[in-house]
Amino acid sequence: MCGIFAAVSDRPVAGVLVQGLKRLEYRGYDSAGVATIDDDGMKRVCAVGKVAALESRVEAERLPGCIGIAHTRWATHGSPSEGDSHPQIASGVAVVHNGIVENHGALRRRLKRQGCNFHSETDSEVIPWLISRAVADGLGAAQALNLLDEALEGSFAVAFMTEADRNVLHAKRHGSPLVAALGPQGGYLSSDISALAGLAKEAIVLSDGDLVELRRDAIAVFDKIGRPVSRPRLPVEASGGAFDKGGYHHYMLKEIHDQPSVARAVESRYDRGDFIGEQIRLDFDQVDRIRLIACGTSYYACLVAKRWFAEIAGVSAEVDLASEHRYAPHVADGLREAAILVSQSGETADTLASLEKLEGLGVPTIGIANQQASTLAREADYFLPLLAGAEIGVASTKAFTAQLLVLARFVAHVAEQRGHRAAARRLRAALGEAPKAMEAVLHNEAAIVAVAETFAKARSALFVGRGALYPLAMEGALKLKEISYIHAEGFAAGELKHGPIALVDEQTPVVALAPTGALFSKLASNVREIAARKGRIILIGDRKALLALSDVADASLTLPTCDELIQPIIAAIPLQFLAYHVAAARGRDIDRPRNLAKSVTVE
Ligand code: GLU
Repeated sequence: MCGIFAAVSDRPVAGVLVQGLKRLEYRGYDSAGVATIDDDGMKRVCAVGKVAALESRVEAERLPGCIGIAHTRWATHGSPSEGDSHPQIASGVAVVHNGIVENHGALRRRLKRQGCNFHSETDSEVIPWLISRAVADGLGAAQALNLLDEALEGSFAVAFMTEADRNVLHAKRHGSPLVAALGPQGGYLSSDISALAGLAKEAIVLSDGDLVELRRDAIAVFDKIGRPVSRPRLPVEASGGAFDKGGYHHYMLKEIHDQPSVARAVESRYDRGDFIGEQIRLDFDQVDRIRLIACGTSYYACLVAKRWFAEIAGVSAEVDLASEHRYAPHVADGLREAAILVSQSGETADTLASLEKLEGLGVPTIGIANQQASTLAREADYFLPLLAGAEIGVASTKAFTAQLLVLARFVAHVAEQRGHRAAARRLRAALGEAPKAMEAVLHNEAAIVAVAETFAKARSALFVGRGALYPLAMEGALKLKEISYIHAEGFAAGELKHGPIALVDEQTPVVALAPTGALFSKLASNVREIAARKGRIILIGDRKALLALSDVADASLTLPTCDELIQPIIAAIPLQFLAYHVAAARGRDIDRPRNLAKSVTVE
């Protein structure tokens, strides 16, 4: 959510700033801006909508400045307008800000009383005013930034530059991610390491509270109390290949097709030796309950894992939405817990707040995320990487199946420690089939395109499943909502007659996840109940299941036959394809759906 990119060089930086913003686009935003400083002073160019709109303005302005800051904004306060876009400038100080200033109202009133003349509605404008006043009072940039810690409530990352010193960029990280890097042509700051491809070989991952002072040939990092510190460096993926659509129309489609190779990457890291045992030094035989915490799609991955934990490892698991868990009352029931926090970015604000709460309660925490340079990776007691590679499409696809693949291996690990060896073996063997089964679904894309064309006219859609496929029904509905904007709901098929069946009519497609398995006959009855109410049924199942229900299906999508345990992983793919092709038929902006951000770094 929102992106910061900044550069200081011995040549004009406007082009590199716009390129940086393009690479941050996937995070989600509604307006963008850059500011640079040259001999004539500070220049600011902003545009509502896509970075492409900003790019043409920047080209027309021909900004010659060799220092600049840039931002993609996901408005939280004020409107997505040019005036409210960042950089925000006050008295020769230009600031880009990621996050929310929760006490901006009180600060704005105070600053106004002190004569500051606000020109925007954004909460962020208090920051350049605070900094410029501090500098006017004789404080250095570092002291001014540290004042923000005291003044601002909320989490943020801030970068700023001043007209008075055209050689240095300043930044502070307080809750929102930021990396700094030095390359042959200058120094850079970015919200995301992948945006530095081609500019620098490695990047310094700032810790919370760090300040950075960046020149074209030097980086200095200081901790909260101003001591110079050295922070971990991570390699920057050189090619920027993550930003290549690989010949597909959209990143999302490429990422759907990436899934078998992600499954193989997970397999080769996790199935060689005891990878999980080396990462996580916990004895799960001494754990009474697993607590899973996540948001959105990651939450659905956790719901599947809950079932696996019970079935394979004989341990009960609770799943909480992070946004609820962080404020939920805690019951000290004496059970020994371990918590798993699942995210794609590892920067999800709610999930990090849950992490803090759990740490306060003394619960051991395990983070699972795609970004190894993330706060979750650093701050959880233990960490497991998803290895999905950069996911650019806002709607998660390969990171979701990677979550399931990693969680399943985690379940097998816990099962072994708890003496459920045969069940763990079965799960591992099933996981070994996953890459091939995924490939089989990818080969069926054409059949899904045909279904999607009729689906695209629907105003609303239902998704149903049972057992471990119930969370997939919710995930299928979420995916469709996210990118096609069709209203959709996922239900446990057995719940339909307790209310939702009232929604079934001849116009409403009902996607039923119905592969052969222990609950197939129950689900088949639910499907027939829908057929009796003239619902338009789209069945997703293996051949045997499709045959058994062929008399009631309006359309069918075939899944390969596989162990029931991995059906949720395989069934994710036709649901992703369906959402994608429905959204394509409706002409949606698939990789950047309206109102959504990839990495939800605000509460
Ligand atoms: N709260 C700020 C605004 O609305 C920054 C939002 C962001 O992180 O993009 O301008």
